[in-house]
Amino acid sequence: MSASSTRSRLVLGNWKMHGSLAQNASLLEALRDGAASFGPGVVGVCVPFPYLAQTQSVLQGSPVAWGAQDVSIHASGAYTGEVSAAMLSDFSCRWALVGHSERRTYHGESSEVVAQKAAAALKQGLTPVVCVGETLDQQTAGQTSQVIADQLAPVLALGAAEVAKMVIAYEPVWAIGTGRTASPEQAQAVHALIRQSLSALGCAQVQVLYGGSVKASNAASLFAMPDIDGALVGGASLVASEFLSIAAA
Ligand code: PEP
Repeated sequence: MSASSTRSRLVLGNWKMHGSLAQNASLLEALRDGAASFGPGVVGVCVPFPYLAQTQSVLQGSPVAWGAQDVSIHASGAYTGEVSAAMLSDFSCRWALVGHSERRTYHGESSEVVAQKAAAALKQGLTPVVCVGETLDQQTAGQTSQVIADQLAPVLALGAAEVAKMVIAYEPVWAIGTGRTASPEQAQAVHALIRQSLSALGCAQVQVLYGGSVKASNAASLFAMPDIDGALVGGASLVASEFLSIAAA
């Protein structure tokens, strides 16, 4: 039995490695102005590290919150190129994405490292958005449930008190940036499995977002599913009108 009606909704943009000071200014201002009627904490953007200051300066005081796309497992020290959770807090980040498939694929991040990143974010009061999802080959081989269970295992092992403060994003790799979205029923089936694991830990209220080619035209049908609490949006988050329409859905 789903408790979706008692869980709040969240639409989170992931800009990936896109943007410039000039482009961001018009996008952020359009989001700030277009989201004026939304409640706080319902819409957010995860931007590249160098643009956190700009994002904070435009969005502070608006209902749109912001976050980063990654976080170090370390608190501080000789870790060239890393950005700590405390540094993200300096810019009032609310979220840190961890375990995005592009980090897993291009940077070799294991599920254990993803769990360490989630723990580092939580320690600093940030909400980790833990991304999980299977590749096309894994889906074709019928391995989706096992892949998701394996990716979640080290995260769930952090314990109920920690998991309760997270957000999970189910992002089938075959749907990310491909224009090929999971059908609402396909996504719901995986979300229900994730919800079962969360419920077994006493964390049924954790938000589970869907990500993978979400657009204004398919958002409402995805959000109608009982275990889909919102979306993690890549490409469409770079166009203010499209992103705001998804949030309005
Ligand atoms: C993502 O990068 O998290 C994502 C879901 O991308 P897109 O919406 O472009 O598929």
